[in-house]
Amino acid sequence: DAFRLDEIDNNSVRTVRNCVFSVSQPTPLKGPLRLAAVSKEALEEILDLNSSVSQTEDFVQYFSGGKLWPGSVPLAHRYGGHQFGFWAGQLGDGRAHLLGEYTNRRGERWELQLKGSGKTPYSRAGDGRAVIRSSVREFLCSEAMHFLGVPTSRAASLIVSEEPVWRDQFYNGNVRKERGAVVLRLARSWFRIGSLEILAKAGELDLLQKLLNYIIEEHFPSIKSSDPDKYLVFYSSVVNETAHLISQWMSVGFAHGVCNTDNFSLLSITIDYGPFGFMESYDPNFVPNTSDDEGRYSIGNQANVGLFNLQKLGEALRPALSPKQQAATDQILKGYPGIYQRRFHELFKAKLGLLGNQEKDDYLIAFLLRLMEDTGADFTMTFRELSEIIAHQLEQRNDVPQMWALRDLASHQFFPDWASMYLQRLKGQEDDSDADRQRRMKRVNPRYVLRNWMAESAIRKAEKNDFSEVQLLQQVLRQPFQEQEAAERAGYASRPPGWAQSLSVSCSS
Ligand code: AMP
Ligand code: MG
Ligand code: MG
Repeated sequence: DAFRLDEIDNNSVRTVRNCVFSVSQPTPLKGPLRLAAVSKEALEEILDLNSSVSQTEDFVQYFSGGKLWPGSVPLAHRYGGHQFGFWAGQLGDGRAHLLGEYTNRRGERWELQLKGSGKTPYSRAGDGRAVIRSSVREFLCSEAMHFLGVPTSRAASLIVSEEPVWRDQFYNGNVRKERGAVVLRLARSWFRIGSLEILAKAGELDLLQKLLNYIIEEHFPSIKSSDPDKYLVFYSSVVNETAHLISQWMSVGFAHGVCNTDNFSLLSITIDYGPFGFMESYDPNFVPNTSDDEGRYSIGNQANVGLFNLQKLGEALRPALSPKQQAATDQILKGYPGIYQRRFHELFKAKLGLLGNQEKDDYLIAFLLRLMEDTGADFTMTFRELSEIIAHQLEQRNDVPQMWALRDLASHQFFPDWASMYLQRLKGQEDDSDADRQRRMKRVNPRYVLRNWMAESAIRKAEKNDFSEVQLLQQVLRQPFQEQEAAERAGYASRPPGWAQSLSVSCSS
């Protein structure tokens, strides 16, 4: 009851005013429906469900939009956003429905949302659907990110249908018939920077304050509601956590792809998996989204874009702040680059197994990244192989058998210089053994990430109703730091196959 709801109870597409949610009914998908995958962990640990319930017809109905719980009022959220640097006006949940909240036995409140469940007042020109391709990617990647230790929304189930959905996958005029799918997504909150922006832009200031108060009370329990600076403390917290999130993305080579303000969570979790990509050959200019011609959302620009987005958040808060507080937001934002740098430095130090602090650590990290950039060494496997190699083997640059990424790296003329600097640094670590270093490093350097080609291979099968590889990937990616036989057999830690080179992804989903 916290917010006024959009009063017209239907799904007609339109500009909506003075509300945070619109009542909107999911549109059932054309059957037969198939349950392609479930996350046992999400069902059991978040929703307190025994995963065997997913075998029932009711489960498939409830989590594809076919059936609603008695009394359930599904909602579409009204938000706006800056897309590729420009204010885009009203966006909103154009193909997602909030089913409700669940407080689990741990006392955590989670929001259940369907994606791909039909039109809402926010669908604009869209059809309200999501295809198998993008749904498999979202399902697999959100769970994979969770197990990598990166804050993220979760995915509990993936249901595919026979409903035809037409998409021009690469915006080249080739419209292809695909099929609709629905993912059950979970997050503590789906509010984004754009949730506040639209209220500020529309001058709906009562509602802006109401939403801010609600978010703070609900999700920032350490902030006192009586604190006259509570919006500033909130801002400072989002600035801090966003810097942390982006540094974590960088530490696993994750490029989100569409870092618009409507895709940036106020809880600083990763949301809205579209044309994301895990960087393979190290390249700060890596752009996962082929529709992003300017490379605005290249992996190396994510920290900058985070700053831009946080500035937009500051602007959205302005109407709720005194002039003095407004000035303080600028000061808070000035702290962002430092927070990001420090966190990045800590994460990469851990990736190299370094203990304590030494003056040259930044240089050691930057030197390695430079070698990787020059040689195009694989980001994930370079760090993983450094975790697996016996340190003194690094002295023998031609003797790194099986280690394909390190072999690429070692082709650099300055590799021996870096290696001896690194070994020197490791030798200086008291109370550390090489085995301990390996153990530490293997806990933070994954052997498996969801490479594009892996997702693509699983998608091709899923489109033929063979979900075995979706499930295999899910299985492997729930233990990304653990070497697994099935994963090795599938080549998930090997040099990517030749056909992977020609793959691309776009915003089409
Ligand atoms: P995204 O780039 O995925 O974050 O989406 C931007 C906006 O477009 C959001 O408001 C989405 O809800 C909306 N949108 C994307 N695809 C569709 C679709 N197929 N039907 C309706 N709305 C969509
Ligand atoms: Mg979005
Ligand atoms: Mg999206």
